[in-house]
Amino acid sequence: MKRRVGIIGGGASGLAAAIEAARAGAQVTIIEHMDRVGKKILSTGNGRCNLTNLRMESDCFRSSQKSFPMKVIEGFPVEETLEFFGILGIVPKNRNGYIYPNSDQASSVLDVLRSETSHLGVEVLLSCHVKEIREGDHGGFAILTDQGRVDTDALILAAGSKAAPATGSDGSGYELAKSLGHTLIKPLPALVQLRCQGSMYKQLAGIRTDARICLTIDGKKTAEDRGELQLTDYGLSGIPVFQVSRFAARALDEGKKVRAYIDFMPEWEAKDAFYLLRKRADVVGYKPAEELFTGMLNKKLGAVLLKLAGISPEKKAGELSGKQIAKLLGQLKEYEAIVMSVNPFANAQVCCGGVDTRQVDPSTMESKIRKDLYLAGEILDVDGICGGYNLQFAWSSGVLAGRSAAGAGSSGPGERQAVRVSHGSGASASRSFAARPSRTEEHKKRSIPKEKRNHR
Ligand SMILES: Cc1cc2nc3c(=O)[nH]c(=O)nc-3n(C[C@H](O)[C@H](O)[C@H](O)COP(=O)(O)OP(=O)(O)OC[C@H]3O[C@@H](n4cnc5c(N)ncnc54)[C@H](O)[C@@H]3O)c2cc1C
Repeated sequence: MKRRVGIIGGGASGLAAAIEAARAGAQVTIIEHMDRVGKKILSTGNGRCNLTNLRMESDCFRSSQKSFPMKVIEGFPVEETLEFFGILGIVPKNRNGYIYPNSDQASSVLDVLRSETSHLGVEVLLSCHVKEIREGDHGGFAILTDQGRVDTDALILAAGSKAAPATGSDGSGYELAKSLGHTLIKPLPALVQLRCQGSMYKQLAGIRTDARICLTIDGKKTAEDRGELQLTDYGLSGIPVFQVSRFAARALDEGKKVRAYIDFMPEWEAKDAFYLLRKRADVVGYKPAEELFTGMLNKKLGAVLLKLAGISPEKKAGELSGKQIAKLLGQLKEYEAIVMSVNPFANAQVCCGGVDTRQVDPSTMESKIRKDLYLAGEILDVDGICGGYNLQFAWSSGVLAGRSAAGAGSSGPGERQAVRVSHGSGASASRSFAARPSRTEEHKKRSIPKEKRNHR
């Protein structure tokens, strides 16, 4: 008899798990409480889906157990992910190491995943709500849902986090994990905007500028990033802000003081920027100070920096003292934003926190608390930075969980069972991964070497 694998959650990790488990010969059922699977995938990468990244290193992930994320990724690395999607039909587009489908459509990633699950005979129960998970009559699990009882030998929890709940990940997966004996590191919004104190943000709203952001917690520098900063009427947004936001969320939750220091001229050393300001003030000395930044900085930003430095916009530029220029420089290179909160889960791309990874085996994704239970994706206490890392973690953990839940173990690709692979014509044929000439080498050749990060 086929091994029965139930998967709660038909998102990125659940679909990857379903494909791998079905390929390994299991009878797979996905229980999804939304009216369709993979809703979140559609909004990824601004609708283009940054599905992975060629630079995959431990500093791209955060978890209470630092080594956990990369152990999972190494079990199903980027090369194998590209191969997995290549077989499904995705031609990768490489933007400085950031990988997208060549179609530039996130929907095509979902389409190929759905098509493969259907081809493999995966049963998908939509708008199906889990009421309770019980011990099965002969081991395994009895999943009680509003559409009846689903009996499985193994169960994969792939229900995501609390981020972007409109896409289905409403945190109910955490409750299911708790009901099965797991504990959580408190989930908080991450890859999210920072809300800051001060009335000047209304004036700054809409400005986009290259900047470096340095986050301090109780006065200690904790994280920094550089990229396009977006100023909003309540504070700070943009990729560099997202990258440091999880530290802000955690620290604020712990009652700590969070400040973001912004360098609006990151290309310039402070001393060079000082001489630049001094020179400009002297050359256009007859002009009012409010024109000092014209051609150098966004006009609205220049006006706010002048105000914060206590300089009247009407004062003649040539009359600015060295002390005043230094004050202005302070605002330009080290503008202080007092971070009051982060935006809620609805605005977050991911969560930091989740099921404690010490309770999960990273080579199989099996729970150390409950036999035959597996966890995959964002439900775990793992968050990646922007750039394809969160999806890569979902693919890797999903594949490992699917493979193990089906009883295929954590064997390498060469040892895997025969799989059915669809060809372009729609015809299908049985063949073994082991027998296939590796495309990994091909991908390696095409890979761009590690480069400076370029955000999606
Ligand atoms: C706007 C946005 C853009 C993003 N862009 C990128 C990007 O470009 N690159 C990247 O790497 N990452 C990106 N991410 C993050 C990435 O999408 C997630 O990390 C990833 O989808 C997590 O996969 P998952 O399977 O764990 O969870 P999800 O994809 O959230 O799937 C969980 C599924 O479980 C279902 N579910 C939840 N609870 C239950 C329950 N109790 N019963 C049944 N079903 C349930 C949900 O409906 C959902 O279908 C983005 C996120 C957002 C919000």
